[in-house]
Amino acid sequence: MNILVLGSGGREHAMTWALKKSPLVEALFVAPGNGGTEEIATNVTNLVINDGEAVLSFAKDNNIDLVVIGPEAPLVAGVADVLRAGGIAVFGPDAQGAQLEGSKTYSKEFMRALDIPTARYGSFSTEAEALAFAHEMGAPLVVKADGLAAGKGVVVADDMEDAEDAIHDCFDGTFGDAGSTVVIEECLTGPECSLLAFVADGKAHCMVTAQDHKRAFEGDRGPNTGGMGAYSPVPIVEADELAAMKEVMKRAARGTDAEHFEHDYRGVLYGGFMLTPEGPKVLEFNARFGDPETQVVLPRLESDLAEIMLAVAEGRPDDVKLHWNDEWAVCVVLASEGYPGSYEKGKVILGIDDAEALKGVTVFHAGTAKNHDDELVTAGGRVLNVVALGETFEEAQERAYEACDLINFEGKQLRTDIGDRAAKGRSA
Ligand code: ATP
Repeated sequence: MNILVLGSGGREHAMTWALKKSPLVEALFVAPGNGGTEEIATNVTNLVINDGEAVLSFAKDNNIDLVVIGPEAPLVAGVADVLRAGGIAVFGPDAQGAQLEGSKTYSKEFMRALDIPTARYGSFSTEAEALAFAHEMGAPLVVKADGLAAGKGVVVADDMEDAEDAIHDCFDGTFGDAGSTVVIEECLTGPECSLLAFVADGKAHCMVTAQDHKRAFEGDRGPNTGGMGAYSPVPIVEADELAAMKEVMKRAARGTDAEHFEHDYRGVLYGGFMLTPEGPKVLEFNARFGDPETQVVLPRLESDLAEIMLAVAEGRPDDVKLHWNDEWAVCVVLASEGYPGSYEKGKVILGIDDAEALKGVTVFHAGTAKNHDDELVTAGGRVLNVVALGETFEEAQERAYEACDLINFEGKQLRTDIGDRAAKGRSA
């Protein structure tokens, strides 16, 4: 089978790495890819991945049997719809299904219709109405730009002044069209946990739990980022909470089918949960694999990812069989100095081979590229994902940080507390 993966992050390197292990796979292409995918697949750097017709024509020219869509933008842009209409199997939901991520209002309406536990909310397209609702709810509350804002469109406002500023910023165009509608939510409390599921034909197959670390600095301080690290499984989740989360994912999957919301949903549904005192509640749904959660989930998957993705793409959910190893996985992101603000590129990266020589360690690339001298250099904010497996959490964490010490580039920035919450338990 010939596979084309769309995207360029650590998530796409991890997917490509897992696909590469399958005996079913003949040729692997990644568009645009990064310095890591280049080592194990063919990078297609000039393909515009949000342009469905362009991707379709590449797929036809290169006898692609399956297209795997990594990021949300091509999904929301309807690339899966164009490819399916053109007769190509696709792992990723249609544009309507991707609205679960692309519009927070749509996602909330979906949850309300299916009775899925989530924060109370209101959705508004004028500033005056939004402000009135915020005053009625009182602080603390959460203000969210409706559309895609790469994780930056959410403000948890502790007081009314912050809430008013956040509402004003949305309507003032800070997030462009994404902020022309605003969702205001009740502020929930509790630890967070992600549960991803393969979804096809209204059925969900849940993966293992994972938790990411969105803030830039230790102790969950500083600005939000794309994610500075992750671990799996999440030990603080109680059995009854896990059962409730799985039930939510199954109900959501059923909701995507023809009798309900009529999505052509064949891909990953990502549930972002908060474990509140009243039970798990959904903070958000995403329409694709999480980054960096994928980097800790896929190394634990023992089944053949290509076989699973093809079954999902062809709408054969009963053929999805998932087997996981019992190991712990920890991923530490190495970022460029200044990230998530501005940063320099082109810094030479050394030591990856030494890091990967350690037992259980794999390094997934994100913002990397080769320079004119064929040296690996930094090319983005998040540069590398250092992933370690271990028989215990402590072993995985220790190996991950040992590997991080062996990798060097100027301005290397990392959090030294990835996974500490797993070790410290619920009170941390
Ligand atoms: P991303 O795409 O980066 O995952 P997003 O922009 O889709 O994020 P959300 O996941 O909805 O936004 O929210 C981002 C973060 O804000 C959550 O991980 C959580 O920490 C916090 N948050 C969101 N909603 C609430 C809520 N109702 N109560 C408390 N915290 C919340």
